[in-house]
Amino acid sequence: MLRTNKPTPITSSTYVLLFVFLGIPALLFGGQYLFARRYRAKKQAVVTADFPDTWNAILLSNVPLVSKLPSHFRQRLETNIKLFLAEVSFEGQGGVQITDEIRVTVAAQACLLTVGREDKRYPRLKNVIIYPSAFTDSPRAPNFDPDNPTYRLGESWTTGTVILAWDSTKRGAINIHDGRNVALHEFAHQLDQEDGVGDGVPIFQSQSAFTAWSQVFTKEYEIQVKKATKGRRSVLDHYGATNYAEFFAVSTEAFFEKPKQLKRKRPEIYKILKNYYRLDPVSW
Ligand SMILES: [Zn+2]
Repeated sequence: MLRTNKPTPITSSTYVLLFVFLGIPALLFGGQYLFARRYRAKKQAVVTADFPDTWNAILLSNVPLVSKLPSHFRQRLETNIKLFLAEVSFEGQGGVQITDEIRVTVAAQACLLTVGREDKRYPRLKNVIIYPSAFTDSPRAPNFDPDNPTYRLGESWTTGTVILAWDSTKRGAINIHDGRNVALHEFAHQLDQEDGVGDGVPIFQSQSAFTAWSQVFTKEYEIQVKKATKGRRSVLDHYGATNYAEFFAVSTEAFFEKPKQLKRKRPEIYKILKNYYRLDPVSW
């Protein structure tokens, strides 16, 4: 007797299972691959595009710190500005029309903070909102209190938004010796918030860097609190005594705008920021 193995019929439920276990992963993987390819192609196009002369003119007139930057960083800064402007959207509030002057002035300062570190950008940052001058809390802010509005020059949110008052931003960028720069301040907060928390402790590449940071910043913050409480003069703005996050942001302003004084008066802060930003503004 000849026995034959009758093939199992392929039912519709088999097709469903095949689709779930093979089809969906293939579609997802294919989609991701196409997205990554398109992203890389778009990034490459941005990187290879010329840096417009008009943008150079804006840097020259509005962001003099860029002219002081060592020449070997210039190419990276321009690339990072182009990528920043391709990835981050700008929105004007209170009648502000977003222009290249606003975009380039803001982007250049944001990118100054990261130019020392190859491929370091702002992974959480999605948009920058510009007001003409000091603004009250935005109703979209996480801690908005309509009964208690306060005026401010800048904000940085962990959800990926930086808000700036344009008059202060431009003034702070042009004057590079007063230790006050709202854009550097807010983008330092944005770096601090990269791990989802604004606590004055940004992301470090090693445990030893984190340990050194904790020791120096804890000690120096206590000194700052004492100076602020007693009204003593300080190379750092007393606002830095508010909390660790503000201490990091205020120290960053002084690092770029009063590097010599900071290195002389608070050498440990200068050294730890030099290691973090991988820049040495005293030598500029
Ligand atoms: Zn702040």
